[in-house]
Amino acid sequence: MQTPYRGRFAPSPTGDLHPGSLLAAFGSWLLARHHRGTWLVRIEDLDPPREVPGAAERQLRTLAAFGLRSDEPIVRQSARGALYQAALERLLDEGRAFFCRCSRSDLAASHGIHRRCVAHAPRHGRAAPQPAVRLRVADGAVAGFDDAILGAQSQDVANQVGDFVLRRADGYWAYQLAVVVDDAAQAISDVVRGADLLDSTPRQILLQAALGLPTPRYAHLPLLLDAQGRKLSKSDAAQPVDAADPLPALRAAWRSLGQEPQALDAVATVTELLERAQVSFSPAQIPKCANALAAMHNDPL
Ligand code: GLU
Repeated sequence: MQTPYRGRFAPSPTGDLHPGSLLAAFGSWLLARHHRGTWLVRIEDLDPPREVPGAAERQLRTLAAFGLRSDEPIVRQSARGALYQAALERLLDEGRAFFCRCSRSDLAASHGIHRRCVAHAPRHGRAAPQPAVRLRVADGAVAGFDDAILGAQSQDVANQVGDFVLRRADGYWAYQLAVVVDDAAQAISDVVRGADLLDSTPRQILLQAALGLPTPRYAHLPLLLDAQGRKLSKSDAAQPVDAADPLPALRAAWRSLGQEPQALDAVATVTELLERAQVSFSPAQIPKCANALAAMHNDPL
């Protein structure tokens, strides 16, 4: 029997939802509905120094204004430290993870890639940092996967990434550990997200293997670029989407997903738009490009 389709949208509350994050939210929602699956929202509030106060609540209100509501109660990573701790302890006990005091400058000679701990530069007068915890990546470890949109992908994790951080030296959980633990705990079958995270997926696959967790299917959506060809991101000057006027932003996201604009011509409400979109959505039309898409949200409608 096939496992039920379960997708998710997992914003970090580092700013308001902008057209790029709406694309990931709407794209993951459309794919979940297309497969008659469940769609979840998870707030990835793991990094208090980067968090913007009130952003999570505003993101959720904006999603609701766009008709995109989690099918199950919303999960917040800030409340799930015990799960991450248990996974970390297992990896440490099994010798798959290790404590590391290497600093950024210690790793400068290897371009930040950690293969083995190096002799530390003297830290004059500064308190020694807490150790970070890293995953031990075996020599020659390569992780590959078949992206549902972009096709075959593979990365030489040992040489291009190295031993990566699971718990940071400042004590916060690393995104890679938390996302792998939560995608498994929430039985996510399909991770659909922006192509800016394409190069995190091989690390997540290695971590799933180390923890004995299943690997979901992955689909990476095209990124929206600004007029200068730079990624729109929540934390820079990207204009947030207007929760008071959802139809233009949803139409723009629809076109950026490669869908027929006419399908949504006659709709007057969000509910109607989402109904039409579900019926007309064609996953095969999603552009197969990781990082090149004009900022179509600025086009006149
Ligand atoms: N929290 C991440 C972000 O906002 C997304 C994580 C994911 O979808 O795996 O960029």
